[in-house]
Amino acid sequence: MSTIQVTQSSMPDFQEYIREIEDLWESHWLTNMGIKHKKLESLLIKYLQTPNITLFTNGHLALESAIVALGLTGEIITTPFTFASTTHAIVRNALTPVFCDINPHTYTIDEEKIESLITERTSAILPVHVYGNICNVDAIDAIAQEYKLKVIYDAAHAFGVTVNGQGIATFGDASIFSFHATKVFNTIEGGAVTYLNSDLARTLNNLKNFGITGPESVESVGGNAKMNEFQAAMGICNLRHVDFEIEKRKAIAQRYVMRLDGINGLKLSRQPEIKSNYAYLPVVFDGYKMNRDQVYEALKKEDIFARKYFYPLINDFLCYRDKFDSQDTPVAKYISERILTLPLYANLSLDDVDRICDIILGK
Ligand SMILES: *Cc1c(COP(=O)(O)O)cnc(C)c1O
Repeated sequence: MSTIQVTQSSMPDFQEYIREIEDLWESHWLTNMGIKHKKLESLLIKYLQTPNITLFTNGHLALESAIVALGLTGEIITTPFTFASTTHAIVRNALTPVFCDINPHTYTIDEEKIESLITERTSAILPVHVYGNICNVDAIDAIAQEYKLKVIYDAAHAFGVTVNGQGIATFGDASIFSFHATKVFNTIEGGAVTYLNSDLARTLNNLKNFGITGPESVESVGGNAKMNEFQAAMGICNLRHVDFEIEKRKAIAQRYVMRLDGINGLKLSRQPEIKSNYAYLPVVFDGYKMNRDQVYEALKKEDIFARKYFYPLINDFLCYRDKFDSQDTPVAKYISERILTLPLYANLSLDDVDRICDIILGK
C-alpha cells in the first residue's frame, strides 16, 4: 500500500494549467504584477469578500510586511500554538512577542487572558485562526477598541471560512493568508494581506517591490516579495476547483467524525457555527488507551504520516526557550503534548480513512 502523508497538494488538470500559462510565451511578462497577478487579485477580492488585497510570494513575507505597514511597535500579544512563522515574523521585525494561552476547545487565543498581558508597550494583538477554527473575533475587537490596539489575524489556515456568511478576511485591521502548497488553496508558494484601510496598499506594494513607485522613483526602503505569473496562474486554476475540494474534504472529515467522535479519551474539535474549510483534522488523545506518540508510531508503521501540529510549542523552540517559559501557557502546553493532526486532503479515499481509524481504534 502506498504512503499516506498528512496532506497532498491540490493541482489542477495538467492541460488546464498549460492553457493558463500559454499566453506568457507571447507576452514574456513573467513577474512584476502582470495580467495573471491582476486577475488573481480581483478573483480573490470577490472570493474572500475583502475590500483590499495585496499578493505576496509567500504567507510569511505577507505577515512580516503587514506588521511593518501597520506601524507596530514594542510588544505584540500572540499565541505559541501555531506555526513558527507567526512568532518569527514578530521577532524578525525586532518586536517582542508576548504569549497568551489558548482556549482548550478551539485552540485559538484565549480572549479572556489577553487583557492581563497588555502593557504600555503593547501595540497589537496577533491571533491565529488555527486549523481554520476562528478566534472570538468580537471579544478581540472589543479589547482592541478599548486599548487602541491593532489586530492582525494569521488566517493562513482559514482560506474560505465564513461566519454567518461573512468572510474571515473582514475581521481585524488586516489578515494574512498563506497559499503554500500544503494549504487548502495554493499558488505553489504564495500569500496575501487583506485589509480594511486602502491607504495601506501603497506601503505594502513598496515593501514587496523595493519601494519602487516609478521608473525613476524609489520612495521607501523595501525588499522583494512579489508573486510571479506562474504562481498566480496556478492560483487562478486552483481557485476554480477550491469549493469542490472543500466539499470533498468535508466528506472525509465527516467520516473521521463518524468513526472517532464520542470514543472515550479522544477529542475532536468542531465549530458548528462557522462554514469550515476542513483544512486539518486535529485529534487530542487525553486518557485514551494509547497516548499521542503511540498513535503516531502505530500509523507510521503502516506508512501513514500524521503530524504533531503544533509540537513543540513555540516557546519551547531552541531559539526561544531561553527567553520564554512554556509553563506560562499551560493549556497550550497540555494540548501540544496530546494533539495529532490526521491525514486530510481532497483525494484521500474513505477506505484509507477507515484504515487510519482502524489503526487508531486498535482494530
Ligand atoms: C503556512 C503558515 C504561515 C506561513 O505561510 P508560508 O506561505 O508558508 O510562508 C504562517 N502562519 C501559519 C499559521 C501557517 O500555517
